[in-house]
Order: sequence, then structure tokens, then C-alpha cells
Amino acid sequence: MTAHTHHDDHVHADEDDMISIEEALERVLSYTSVLPGESRPLLESLGGVLAEDIIAGFDIPPLPNSGMDGYAVHADDVAGATEATPIELPVLGEVAAGAVPSAPLAPGGAIRIMTGAPVPAGSGAVVPFEDTDEMERRSAGDDLKKINVRRAPRPGANIRLAGEDIGAGSKVLSRGMTLRPCDIGLAASLGLTHLPLIRKPVVAIISTGDEIMEPGEERRPGAIYNSNAYTIASFVARHGGTPRIIGTARDTEASLNEMLDRAMEADLVLTSAGVSRGDYDVVKDVLASRGHIVNRSVRIKPARPLAFGALKTADGRDIPHIGLPGNPVAVVVAFEVFARPAILAMAGHTSLEKPVVEAVLEDPIRNPDHRRVFARVEVYIDRETGDYRARLSGSQGSGVLTAAAAANGLAICPEDSDGLKPGDVATVQMLDWSEQML
Ligand code: AMP
Ligand code: MG
Repeated sequence: MTAHTHHDDHVHADEDDMISIEEALERVLSYTSVLPGESRPLLESLGGVLAEDIIAGFDIPPLPNSGMDGYAVHADDVAGATEATPIELPVLGEVAAGAVPSAPLAPGGAIRIMTGAPVPAGSGAVVPFEDTDEMERRSAGDDLKKINVRRAPRPGANIRLAGEDIGAGSKVLSRGMTLRPCDIGLAASLGLTHLPLIRKPVVAIISTGDEIMEPGEERRPGAIYNSNAYTIASFVARHGGTPRIIGTARDTEASLNEMLDRAMEADLVLTSAGVSRGDYDVVKDVLASRGHIVNRSVRIKPARPLAFGALKTADGRDIPHIGLPGNPVAVVVAFEVFARPAILAMAGHTSLEKPVVEAVLEDPIRNPDHRRVFARVEVYIDRETGDYRARLSGSQGSGVLTAAAAANGLAICPEDSDGLKPGDVATVQMLDWSEQML
């Protein structure tokens, strides 16, 4: 029997003492606030939240330019051109990409032009090479002083107008938006090297427990390697925070105090383990002595024991704190449900929800004590019906990390349900969208 089951069985006789997930999350979030803005290089801006509007200082494209390789002409001059009745024009010059034409296009003439090159003033259209006899002239060794136009262009054809993409003075990127790859490209097209973003939360991660040893250390009987710190750090990074693994506190006040002292520059402190009701009270006592801590049971499975609050720094600041459970899978669920939204909120995101799908269950989800169960599942698409289907990804013990590793989603059994059976449809909160899901 695991320690977690032990707690489940003996510690919480009083059901009404549990708070809802919504209440717990609201209270966790009440300790957080949006971090200040900072200037970040473009390539570090992906996924960040913009702290200010970005306004275009000039038109993009800056000048009318050609959308094709071809010949700039006055549309009227070639209005009657067809394959059978081509119209011959003298070629007066050439504009390469990056060049600026020095003179307007004289009536009756054509100017050879490359894609993206500014069209000479007066140009009514660009006739693409394939609508001229350039190829034949070339193969015949012609010097291209003249060109035949074989098809009348629509007026304005293949000319991109100045400001067609972005007009000077228009808002290109909006404050509060989460930056995606094309947004970074837009910023670059405005000539920017940096963007004003909400600062990424620095998240201090502290493990607790006398039984915990670190990867790389020689294995001791009775000890287990610290997986939580690494799971948590990876989730923090995935959700846009900067993880800092501080270390593992022994089950003594001095050790935990020392770790917490080293976490006082962080924006958020995450601890794991030591917060169950049945635990020896070191973690709770120390946290309480350093700030304000709420220790509650939440109507969630796994991850019932949760602590949260704020730690006071020496200079009087409050650092939000979330005390995650110890069991590795409870850590994953508590992170998803409580820590992930806290990190997103601090980074300025307003949409804190994960994508969900409705999936047909292939396995039962038990819910004898009416909590909201987050079952670890593998979701896939049934190619025949197009339905999402979900099967348990392994044993549902709160210490079985392999099942969480094999899962791409958390299937939810609601509090008021006695359980779900195969064939029932469940809401699944997605952890990942793998290639097979698309
Ligand atoms: P606790 O909340 O301290 O009772 O811990 C609950 C369970 O989680 C115990 O089985 C611990 O050994 C385990 N556990 C605690 N911390 C970690 C950790 N950092 N990595 C892996 N397992 C842990
Ligand atoms: Mg412990």
C-alpha cells in the first residue's frame, strides 16, 4: 500500500472539509499577479505575451512593387494584345529587387522588373514573362531591346500596392496576445529586434523528503530518485516559465528553511511532498512560519492534498507558493490543474484552459468517493467513425509515473458521478497533441 493510499484511507474522514477544484484554483490564483514587462529579443519571444501594442511606423510593402518577374507597362498600351495580335514595346530598362527606379515609365515603353522590385511610377500592370516572347527571343540570341506582349493584363495586375500588407500607423500586434511564429515574422518585417513582453516567471522548485536522492547519486536501499523536480521543471519550461531546481530539503526545519532562503528571488515557489494531512508537519510548519499558507484537501483525484499561499521575503515581498503532493502522478495532475494556470496567469495569459476533446471510453473510471478524477488516458482517433477514443494508459495508482508518461490526456470523471463505464463519453483534457492526433 502506498503512502498516498494510506492518507486516503485514514486521514480524511470528513468529506465536507474538501474544497472544490474551482475554489482551490481561484484561491491559488489570488496569490499571483501579472509580472512586469521587459524587452526580449525576437527569437526569445515565441509563446510570450505582448505587454504593449505594436504600431507600424511605415507602410509594408514600403513602395508599390512587382508580384511577378515580368515587364512593367502602361496597361492601355497593351490593352489589345493577344497571342494572335501581340503588341511590341521597346524595353527601356530593368529594375532589380532592392533597386529603386530612377524615372517614371515613359508611355509606350516597357521596363523589365523582378519580383519584389519597386515598379516605376506610371506602371499600370506587370506582364509576367510567360505572357511575352522573352524565352523565344533569348533562345534566338536576341538582345531583348524589344518585347512582344501576348496577353493584355488586367489594369493593376501583379502590382502590390504600398501598405497592402500593413498600413503606416496601424496596429500590427496587440497587447495581451500570445506570440506565434508569424507574429515574430511581422515584428521582424517592421525592423524590430526586440519586443515588449511580460516577463517569464522564474519558478523555484524544491523537493522534500528524507527518502529522496538525486539522479547521479549512488543508489541507497530505501531511497528513491527525485523524479518530481525534473517532471515539474520540464512542465514549467513547457508552459513558458523558467525553472530553477533549488534542491531537496531533508525532513528538518533547518534544511527546508535553507532551501526556501535560496528561492527568494523567484516569482513562484513550487514544493513537492510533505503536505498530506498525515505527514509529519515540517513542511507545513516551516511554510506557515515564513508567510501565509492554506493547507486543504481538494475534491480531486489524484492530488487531494494541496498547500498554497505566499512566502514573505526579507524585504517584505510576497512570493506565491504552491505545495504540490509527493506522489509523482499527483504532481502531474496538480501541476496541470493548479500550477500551470498560475504560471500562465503570471506570464500575462488570460486564457488558462487546456484544450479538451470528448472521447468514447474503452475502460471504466472508478469514482467511489466522488472526487473529480483525472484518469491517465491515451486518446486516439478511430479512423472509421472519426470519433476520439480513450483507453487507460496504465495502472491508475498515483505513484505510477509510467502511466502518466504513456498518456496524452486526462479523462475527467465528474464529482457527482459514481464512475464511468466503457462506451461512456468523457471530457478529456489534453496533455499533448501527438502527430497521430492530427
Ligand atoms: P509525501 O507527500 O511526502 O508523503 O510523499 C508521497 C509519496 O511521494 C511518497 O511515496 C514519496 O516517496 C513520493 N515522493 C515524494 N517526493 C518525491 C520526489 N521528489 N520524487 C519522486 N517521488 C517522490
Ligand atoms: Mg515526505
